[in-house]
Amino acid sequence: RINSIPMAPPDKILGLTEQFNADKNDNKTNLTVGIYKDNWGQVTTMPSVARAQAMLDQSFEMNTDLSYLPIKGCPDFRENVLRFLYRESCPQGVELLNQERISFVQTLSGTGALAVASKFLSLFMSHTVWFPNPSWPNHANVFQINGFKNINHYTYYKDGQLDVDGWISDLEKAAKSTNDSFPPCIVLHACCHNPTGLDPTLEQWKRIMDKIHELKMIPIIDMAYQGLDTGDVYKDAYLLRLSLDESRYQWSNGLFLCQSFAKNMGLYGERVGSLSVVTSRGAEEKRSVDSQLKKIVRGMYSSPPGYGSRVANIVLSNPHLKNLWFQDVENIAKRLQSVKAKMAERLNWDSLQDPTRQHGMFLYTGLNASEVNTLREDSSIYLVQDGRLSLSGLNDSNIDYVCDALRKLEK
Ligand code: PMP
Repeated sequence: RINSIPMAPPDKILGLTEQFNADKNDNKTNLTVGIYKDNWGQVTTMPSVARAQAMLDQSFEMNTDLSYLPIKGCPDFRENVLRFLYRESCPQGVELLNQERISFVQTLSGTGALAVASKFLSLFMSHTVWFPNPSWPNHANVFQINGFKNINHYTYYKDGQLDVDGWISDLEKAAKSTNDSFPPCIVLHACCHNPTGLDPTLEQWKRIMDKIHELKMIPIIDMAYQGLDTGDVYKDAYLLRLSLDESRYQWSNGLFLCQSFAKNMGLYGERVGSLSVVTSRGAEEKRSVDSQLKKIVRGMYSSPPGYGSRVANIVLSNPHLKNLWFQDVENIAKRLQSVKAKMAERLNWDSLQDPTRQHGMFLYTGLNASEVNTLREDSSIYLVQDGRLSLSGLNDSNIDYVCDALRKLEK
């Protein structure tokens, strides 16, 4: 009955912004949400994306097309994203495209891709999922809401370091202790692990993927930060390239890629991304998966929004804008790296906490909940409770203030 519905816990990240907005301190600093801000504290549209928007708006004046997109999304977007992911980011994907083994839907950004994937998997293939500990807090929520019964976390981070041995041994132990006939899924952060910023090396990934393959788990690659690590969107797709090396791995239950343009095109609110399912055999398997994905999308939200995917499509299909986009992504990655270097200069943190070891938008500070509270209460500096700090919220005018407050905590 409606009067017996329990209160859901508040969102761990977005709730803090509400508190920040109400804070009256002139020096207040919001380092919570993963939205890229420039050195002037502004969220701006990337030049490549702004130009694509201008082109689109011009053509809209002539012919305003606000009709529905197809269930699976904009056909041009689909062609261009498939080319971007499976020809350019991962050249061996060409073979998979030729064999018609990639089922693809445009989604409501990365979260939407995870939602459609988890719904599909829970309906047909699996009810157990493994996430890294820690992970983006919404992962477990999305999978639980979409029908997963068993939500587990594998060891990822221990004493300030990545713990690959612990990770592999958790998977082995779980495999030994289950008699479930459905294969378990495993979610892998493609790069810029959120929140720790620690990514396995390629050699470590090989060990990990070998084990996942041996245990017949279903890999779900979550690629939300492609380009924000090295500044090169193609380089950052190394996990996809390794996973799709068919001389090494055959994923008998498919491989799932959840991809987002929220961060690397700054299209956050437009909700632009994709889900692709790489099937194990030819076109027939893909057609069945296609049909079920369409049915799920139709039942969830009918069809994806149009505007943002049209913008992304222009960036991806116009060679001049695409080059400009590469530059934009590189500039973002460089600024994130320079903020880390500036923090490292100002803080005398030991090598484990050294900001320059960490990849991507966030710094996992190692601060505990009470230190995070002290920062907020004494200095109006807002971090996520687990000590994650969003780096681009720092700039020339506030970095000293924040680093001073961090140093005070050490005393
Ligand atoms: N996965 C991870 C690991 C993330 O950090 C995020 C964004 N914070 C997402 C997926 C989804 O982002 P979006 O839905 O905005 O693309």
